[in-house]
Amino acid sequence: MKRLTAWLAAVVLLTGCAAKPTRYQATFLTLFDTVTTIVGYAESEAAFRETAQAIHDELLVYHRLCNIYEDYDTNLKTVNDNAGVRPVQVDGRIIELLSDCRDYYDRTGGAVNVAMGSVLSIWHEARMTGKLPDPNALEAAMEHCDFDDVILDPVASTVYLADPQMRLDVGAVAKGWAVQQVCEQAEPGLLVSVGGNVCATGSKPDGSWTVGIQNPDGEGSLCTVPLACGAVVTSGDYQRYFTVNGTDYHHIIDPETGYPARHWRSVTVVCEDSGTADALSTALFVLPQAAGQRLLDEFGAEALWVTADGGTVSSPGLMNWKR
Ligand code: ADP
Ligand code: MG
Repeated sequence: MKRLTAWLAAVVLLTGCAAKPTRYQATFLTLFDTVTTIVGYAESEAAFRETAQAIHDELLVYHRLCNIYEDYDTNLKTVNDNAGVRPVQVDGRIIELLSDCRDYYDRTGGAVNVAMGSVLSIWHEARMTGKLPDPNALEAAMEHCDFDDVILDPVASTVYLADPQMRLDVGAVAKGWAVQQVCEQAEPGLLVSVGGNVCATGSKPDGSWTVGIQNPDGEGSLCTVPLACGAVVTSGDYQRYFTVNGTDYHHIIDPETGYPARHWRSVTVVCEDSGTADALSTALFVLPQAAGQRLLDEFGAEALWVTADGGTVSSPGLMNWKR
């Protein structure tokens, strides 16, 4: 009996001695035209790879649904191709995304407007050719950005663009929104970054993650934010731009003017919800500070603005952000 007890104790001791989790990282170049990294702690590399691959595969579904350049079954390109023609039956996730986009549009006073695709496509073309857009073409396109022309029918799961010249472009919201949906279902203790849209699903074994806010003028971080659960999302003028006569024209467009917004070099938003953080980072980029701060208060978020001369302004609660 004594022997059996000793043997059992040894078994318990052995099985209790699980391998210490090791840090692993996976990188993918297949999502949202940017770099995705997933970091986590696991007892084996195989276990981590499986987790990371599952997250990638889920994100790929959103990448395809939101694509406006390539056809993948029925996606937002199908909706755009049928503007003024017919309602398009879509995956329920597109309806949910566009409903949230409608909400962001209303609450930001139109600062983030995914129905502005007609204007954004002109700037996309300009970045490709390196030539400034025709101001008349921009002015004409701005007439086709009224979100009331996006007709959502959640029961029939259809989207209809009532204005034949309207186009959707969810680039300002989709990455963060998709990351939020996927992270809600993911295991705790992961850090997922899709092109700088960073989301944590819980702290790592030794505490919070540390997320650096990039210096728009070079290498390194301006400061760091501790993050256990929630999102850190940056919109910056240094990410996609072209230069004409010494002036940089970047990819975040002020819906009021149709031209790149000029208030900030970058805006980083810290918020519990990654979709909201992404929408707010774009909205705050096109708004003056006071209007941005009002939005932060309303959404329970914090931000760091980087000014044209490289200075920083932080919202009052940023440095105490602990979630
Ligand atoms: P990034 O996608 O580079 O991380 P953002 O989240 O700020 O940065 O999104 C920028 C993208 O959103 C642009 O490439 C464009 O497609 C789109 N966009 C630019 N300005 C606006 C705006 N005011 N409202 C909605 N979408 C915008
Ligand atoms: Mg954004």
